[in-house]
Amino acid sequence: MSHIFPRHCHATPPTASHGEGCFLIDTDGKRYFDGSGGAAVSCLGHSNDRVRRAIKDQVDQLAFAHTGFFTSDPAEQLADLLIANAPGDLDRVYLVSGGSEATESAIKLARQYFTERGEPQRRHLIARRQSYHGNTLGALSAGGNAWRRAQFAPLLIEVSHIAPCYDYMGRAEGESPEAYGQRAAQELEDEILRLGPDTVMAFMAEPVVGATMGAVPAAPGYFNRIREICDRYGVLLILDEVMCGMGRTGHLFACEAETVVPDILCIAKGLGAGYQPIGAMLCTRAIYDTIAGGTGFFQHGHTYLGHPVAAAAGLAVLRELLDNDLVAQVRARGAYLEQRLHERFAQHPHVGDIRGRGLFWGMEFVADRDSKTPFDPRLGLAGRLKKAAFAEGLICYPMSGTRDGQLGDHVLLAPPFIATEAELDGAIDTLSRALDKVMADLP
Ligand code: PLP
Repeated sequence: MSHIFPRHCHATPPTASHGEGCFLIDTDGKRYFDGSGGAAVSCLGHSNDRVRRAIKDQVDQLAFAHTGFFTSDPAEQLADLLIANAPGDLDRVYLVSGGSEATESAIKLARQYFTERGEPQRRHLIARRQSYHGNTLGALSAGGNAWRRAQFAPLLIEVSHIAPCYDYMGRAEGESPEAYGQRAAQELEDEILRLGPDTVMAFMAEPVVGATMGAVPAAPGYFNRIREICDRYGVLLILDEVMCGMGRTGHLFACEAETVVPDILCIAKGLGAGYQPIGAMLCTRAIYDTIAGGTGFFQHGHTYLGHPVAAAAGLAVLRELLDNDLVAQVRARGAYLEQRLHERFAQHPHVGDIRGRGLFWGMEFVADRDSKTPFDPRLGLAGRLKKAAFAEGLICYPMSGTRDGQLGDHVLLAPPFIATEAELDGAIDTLSRALDKVMADLP
């Protein structure tokens, strides 16, 4: 009997034994193509020599030194390299252990920034419906996923949610993507004005939405308008690139495609590529200087901040991405994946939308394509697809997002950047077989 407290209390998953390239192998020898990199984590696959060596060397050199006393070479070098490649005036890096710690830190940094500026009334966060920013209570408060929040409401911080920029469901017939982007962004200004501009501290959003909607990029111009609105009212822009950052969408930082620089940027998953738990929050010099010139102390912290071994892994991952120009490879392979997904699924009677960027692709399933009616949530379609694909040796990431309370079914593909075209072909064949089986077995 296992003493592990599993996520699903009545299911015992197979035991993972080891990884080879894009594959995970269980203790029975069954091979699984990691078509979603877990949850958009394993960007370098599972047996990258450089990262493994960096971790071993770092453990031998220095396993841990508390940041209350020391900094370390890998943490400093990782921060330098991130900043050298980060857009705009992002200038400081706060190294944490994962995505929720990064978004939680961002919310607290925004709050402290305003208290230090003598604007303590600015404590309201605006985020979007159908969003996910992490599972710790502060981060969960920010997210607008009704299903994830339900068990824990009322949540911790003052948050309101505007509509996501969701072309498939949000754009009106005949409306151009550009006009839709402006209309969706206008909701932010309306909400700021409704709340009172001097009460709002920040707006938080993912440049390409991952965990709740399956790789949804914003309409062209949406984030430019969001940036303008934030600037007009002195509201900080926090971009959550925990899932879509680190090359995943074909730019090292997903916001580069939007030509927008946030005040605070969160990254995680792909930064450690699964080799170590690590995340980071980047912020502008202006925010840092406000705190440095005020109390001089960010009132936050975790024991494993800037962990040397995690930082060594993150540094090796980043070097691997840069030295091998893997971000360009993401664009090339991403174009191939996009083409193959369209060839295989665009005419499928229950595939309503195929969307994404780089190697970050989602498909949305609907009961009826004309009316975009979702499947009955009780069918658990996305979960069935995950199960059927897994049985066939494909890992994909299913999602049931909430559309203002109504469930919709999506699947996310986020394969390792090293996946070959033949491996992507294999994944599409498997997904197609699994989808056929799921549809045939629906009651
Ligand atoms: N933010 C986004 C956009 C995410 O997708 C996730 C995880 O899926 C998180 C935050 C939380 O990251 P973690 O699970 O590492 O705490």
